[in-house]
Amino acid sequence: MTNNIQHKIIDIGECEKLELIEITGTTPGPTVAVIGGIHGDEEEGVLSVRRLAQILKEKPISGKVRLLPVANPAAYRARNRFNPIDNKNLAREFPGSEDGTVTGRTAHVITNEVIAGADAMIDLHSAGIKYAMELFCGFFELGTPYSEKCAKLAHAFGTSIIWAHTELSEGRSLSAAVELDVPAIYLECGGGGEVKASETDAYVRGLLNVLISFDMLDGEISTPSEKYLITDAGGNTDQAIMAPVTGIIVTHVAMADSVKKDDRICDIYDDKGCVIATINAPAGGVVMLLRREAPIDAGEVIAMISPAGVACSL
Ligand SMILES: [Zn+2]
Repeated sequence: MTNNIQHKIIDIGECEKLELIEITGTTPGPTVAVIGGIHGDEEEGVLSVRRLAQILKEKPISGKVRLLPVANPAAYRARNRFNPIDNKNLAREFPGSEDGTVTGRTAHVITNEVIAGADAMIDLHSAGIKYAMELFCGFFELGTPYSEKCAKLAHAFGTSIIWAHTELSEGRSLSAAVELDVPAIYLECGGGGEVKASETDAYVRGLLNVLISFDMLDGEISTPSEKYLITDAGGNTDQAIMAPVTGIIVTHVAMADSVKKDDRICDIYDDKGCVIATINAPAGGVVMLLRREAPIDAGEVIAMISPAGVACSL
């Protein structure tokens, strides 16, 4: 017995189409939705979803898996965070609208065709070309039974770092999932335009762990022995430390460094070689996101610092 695999092409207008891979198992069971490429410069998620599709050709499952490897095709072709047709960020447009611009319509289709009715949703991101990030799994910790299901999903996926956000951010696939009562997590990792074997392997392993945890797939869950939980409102990259001026950024810290309040994060130089801004840490914590590309515009993100994680045994 093998799974039934269907490739559904969904028209989103302006010659743009989404390819949704629907894998229906040999016996009934839950539905898990997996999304990659919400941002077009994040290859890790796209490749990991495609790798899962290959694995599930061979392994019979119970239930259904909806795979959307490339959620934002025009952005993916352009290797850009934003959709070049309307210059919008898909991760700020959920739940979307049928009569919106192409990005709004994309969000609308994903909300209704991929997320709605699922028992779990996993959205795979990374730092993108210009940034570096630690590998972690995030979810909304709203103190509700819904959030408990998200926490369980995060622990089943199994990254060393789990980030529980105590504030709901608008416009995300995760915010659409909250509205639809679909437990959801998102993942982040290295970025920089490369894909590290350790990171795509961790994504694929995590996806298999989730399917095993739902009894959809035979096998053993494999997660790191040490896990750290960060609990913080943050995680919204739009609200991180911003560049006050345009120039060349020179970093004084590295990813995952522990910093104290007022430690120097970076200098920004002008085109004469003079420092025109020095950015210090607004609070102590761990560097979870850091600018990698040197030229930076005023208003772009430099870094995100999270509180230190606490060891957890769940
Ligand atoms: Zn992203």
